[in-house]
Amino acid sequence: MTRIGPDEAFPILTEAQIEALRSYGSEEEFADGAILFEEGDKVFDFFVVLEGAIDILQHADETPVRITRHMPGEFTGDTDMLSTRAAVIYAQAVGKTRVIRITPDKLQRVVVENSELSDLILRTFLIRRTALSASKLSPVKVIGSRFSQDTFRIKEFLSKNGQPYMWLDIDADEGVYLILEKFGVKPDETPIILYRNRDVFKNPANEAIATGLGFNVLDEEVNDVLVIGAGPAGLAASVYAASEGLKVTTIDSEGPGGQAGTSSKIENYLGFPTGISGRELAERAYMQAQKFGANIATPREAKALACRYPLYEVEVSGDRKIITRSIVIATGAKYRKLPLENLTEYEGRGIYYGATAMEAQLCSQQDVIVVGGGNSAGQAAVFLSKHARQVHILIRSKDLSHSMSRYLIRRIEETPNIELHCHTEITELIGEEGKLKQVACRNRQTGESWIFDIPNLFVFIGADPNTKWLDNAIALDEKGFVKTGRDLTEEELQDWPLEREPTLFETSRPRIYAVGDVRSKSTKRVASAVGEGSIVVQFIHRALAE
Ligand SMILES: Cc1cc2nc3c(=O)[nH]c(=O)nc-3n(C[C@H](O)[C@H](O)[C@H](O)COP(=O)(O)OP(=O)(O)OC[C@H]3O[C@@H](n4cnc5c(N)ncnc54)[C@H](O)[C@@H]3O)c2cc1C
Repeated sequence: MTRIGPDEAFPILTEAQIEALRSYGSEEEFADGAILFEEGDKVFDFFVVLEGAIDILQHADETPVRITRHMPGEFTGDTDMLSTRAAVIYAQAVGKTRVIRITPDKLQRVVVENSELSDLILRTFLIRRTALSASKLSPVKVIGSRFSQDTFRIKEFLSKNGQPYMWLDIDADEGVYLILEKFGVKPDETPIILYRNRDVFKNPANEAIATGLGFNVLDEEVNDVLVIGAGPAGLAASVYAASEGLKVTTIDSEGPGGQAGTSSKIENYLGFPTGISGRELAERAYMQAQKFGANIATPREAKALACRYPLYEVEVSGDRKIITRSIVIATGAKYRKLPLENLTEYEGRGIYYGATAMEAQLCSQQDVIVVGGGNSAGQAAVFLSKHARQVHILIRSKDLSHSMSRYLIRRIEETPNIELHCHTEITELIGEEGKLKQVACRNRQTGESWIFDIPNLFVFIGADPNTKWLDNAIALDEKGFVKTGRDLTEEELQDWPLEREPTLFETSRPRIYAVGDVRSKSTKRVASAVGEGSIVVQFIHRALAE
């Protein structure tokens, strides 16, 4: 039998493990052909096969594709089981089938209470999701042009949120027109999402995609902690707070991962000697937070903060308000943009702010330019050199020694298809029909000007804090980063209502904390963001007990 995924994706439970699971569920029987759950279900159960079999199928093609057949001793499920996300597969009984059925809330208890089963189930879910993503099979098809900003937006949003999808490029594959014709879609109505080979959504907004696929569900209850931002700092705070029994909601305006999620390889994060991609780190942390019961909703952007200690209210996109007893601001920083006139026209159509597999695919075997002299630019250049023909790094300074880590400088020097251009700035972007074609440059020392015939520009020139939405409701430093703890002045604490002073990471408002890149004077690194996100939880516990 062919199966999508390695053997480890289909472990067989021991008798003892089956007995342990039995106490969380109930035994049931299904007739041949019965559907156990459907693609698109946002709540679906976990099944252990006792007798018979369960086919796992997907509407990825005209006829359903079988992903696997679970035999006795095997179990169903993947990462979506721990969240409110829509199932990307469906399950059907083969012959008379007897199972143990466990609801998602009970499965949550299994993974928290039984470490042996938790390890096995979560590892299996992760392996299955990785294999499914690699197979490119999905009930979600994105059909659109590689030169369309909306195609880029949809693909980026799905990737950031770990949603498997298939991309059919209308510029590369004539056969795609036949699919469009079949569903009555004109080429100029693309991009579309074709869901389950049945439902067509024309150029859907990210919010609509999220609602359809169950990414942005919020409940009405009062939270112990609202974490704003699901980068490394926010995800760490979510994992620690949820694992310690606090009721946690985490929101992000885009999707989990933050800046780290745009990194192709993080090499200096403890415990990953060969490096880990930012996306993988985010996916693992996302699942870990879900495992402990944190609710992560995306895209949900914090818009405004109403300060009414001891209960705070945060207004979020989608016209919702979240009530919470404490807040962790982990909104990080947003990449800077080049001060060039027609920049926005080419964003996603030649200009990129992240270098992940998705962007690499778009400029495979072409020349690319990377602007910036920091570590993020260096990482991007090294990563892109494996996919692109030639990589040009442009920096305005005389060399990289003051801005980039030594190991990356060495790697750049050793990579034959990377060329460094010092004292160089971009003067103009030249395009055609909204696509970037050329990049005009100037040497700031000699005044010499030239044009690169290169349609791919990666921009890594630093970042500014995401704090505008706070509208000065809490104290910020002169650059807009959030001030915390001992850095707060008497004047900034004029309205402080408590006798005690603000603790570490606490802002000028009690029980509102800031961690990671958004915090004034923080070290802008993944490890420190994760560290701060983890440490802050003990202060929240103490403050909530006051
Ligand atoms: C390309 C690149 C490579 C890097 N490589 C490394 C590396 O190798 N090693 C290393 O240590 N560091 C690296 N860094 C730095 C590291 O990624 C950051 O220090 C880290 O991501 C900071 O984490 P954070 O959670 O504080 O903030 P961020 O990662 O910035 O996350 C903030 C999150 O908040 C969300 N958000 C913003 N505003 C709102 C709002 N109003 N409402 C809701 N959500 C909001 C954003 O969408 C984002 O997801 C790299 C950075 C980049 C850009």
